[in-house]
Parts: sequence; C-alpha cells; structure tokens
Amino acid sequence: MLLDLHVHTTRGSGDSSLRPEELVEEAIRLGLAGVCLTEHTYSWTDDEIERVIGETGIRLFRALEVETDAGHALVIGENGYHSDMRNFALLGERASKSGAAIVLAHPFRHLHAPGPQRCILTVKAGVEPGDVKGASEISFLQHAHALEVVNGATPETDNKFALDVATILGYPSTGGSDAHSKHGLASGVTEVDGDPRNPAELAEIIRAGGVKAGVDLHVGRLRFMDTQDRETAPDHDAQTPS
Ligand SMILES: [Zn+2]
Ligand SMILES: [Zn+2]
Repeated sequence: MLLDLHVHTTRGSGDSSLRPEELVEEAIRLGLAGVCLTEHTYSWTDDEIERVIGETGIRLFRALEVETDAGHALVIGENGYHSDMRNFALLGERASKSGAAIVLAHPFRHLHAPGPQRCILTVKAGVEPGDVKGASEISFLQHAHALEVVNGATPETDNKFALDVATILGYPSTGGSDAHSKHGLASGVTEVDGDPRNPAELAEIIRAGGVKAGVDLHVGRLRFMDTQDRETAPDHDAQTPS
C-alpha cells in the first residue's frame, strides 16, 4: 500500500495551509492509499479521522513530528505528546515499551548548504558533508527504526546522503512529501507491506522493516529506493514490545 508518510494539515500544524478535506481529495486524485498525519502540535482523535475520511476509503494515520535533540522525528503509534520525547534516546526507550515506530525525518537537511540553519544531527557529531561512513556511525541513529530518505521539502543532495547512510546501515527507508499545502503531496511516498488499519499496525510494519521509500508519484514518475538487505535487518527492528 502506498502512503505519503509525512504531511501537515491546518488541524495540527500552524504553518500548514492544507485543509484536511482538501488533503483527502488530492490524495485520492494522486492514487495514494493513505496519508500519515505527522502534525507538529496535535494528535488527531479517531472520531475526527473518521469524519474526514467519510466514505472515501482512504486511510489516515495519526502521528506526530517531534522536535528532538537529534532533529525531527516522526512518531507513529503514540497518542499525544510527552515531554520526554524531545530527548531522542528517551523517545527510543518510550517506543521500545509502547511499540511505536520512530522515523528520523529529513535527517541530513541543511548538511550540504549550511546557512543560518544547520543539520543538528551532523553538527553535534562533527560529521562533514561527504562523510557517509562517519554519519552512519552517529549513535542517535540506533534509536530510529527507519530513515526518511525522500523528503519533499529537502534538497536532493541531503536526501541522497540519507539514502546512502540508510543503505550502509541496512535500515528501512521511508518517503514523505512534508507537504504543508496541496502542492507537492506524494512527491515522497512509502510502499508499506501488508494492510495496516491503524497507527499501531503501521508502527509494527515499520519496525519489522516492511517499508520502502519512493519518489515522484505526484508527477507520474514513481520509482523506489531499496536500502535494506531484508535478510540482515537491524537488530532492534526484530524486537517486539513486551
Ligand atoms: Zn521536520
Ligand atoms: Zn514535517
């Protein structure tokens, strides 16, 4: 099933102009099976989601995009914010108990064109542009279940770097548009194995490595990127919550 795994709407992100009804209409037009609502400040309720979906058959998954000390993280399978989520290691601990999935979003945004904004992940680790090996050894990465290697709001060089790091690590990859308006929805997509019906099921699939990033569905040129040797998925992906 094809999802846009990173979208912001007016309901939960003050910087978005994308109305939920408009999102559903556009997602269907583009051929998406569903969308992950990775809002900045709000966790959708089941009722709200059902109301927006109506009879359309599209799937909307509640999620969050959290600002952490390792950069932005998409958190799928948790209900609402908790203050410990801002600490990426603690977020990892929380997820290992709850079964939530953590996707490090646009992990290397600003790495190759540093301006006033820096790539928090590499600055902290002292990793320079081009040092894919060094980046793959950043300890924060061990808490992520997948890396977002296609982000529609990130330069291609930064996305490519994330793809190379995910490939070295054999990590599952995801794609999302990071759309804040109708424009560019499905520029990044994620092929999800199976048939998840709710955030917990989607999280389980991500943790098991059943996701793969794709790009350019919105312009009719969808192609996928494989980062994992499915035989050697990272250890923590095999763990199930106790
Ligand atoms: Zn972000
Ligand atoms: Zn975002």
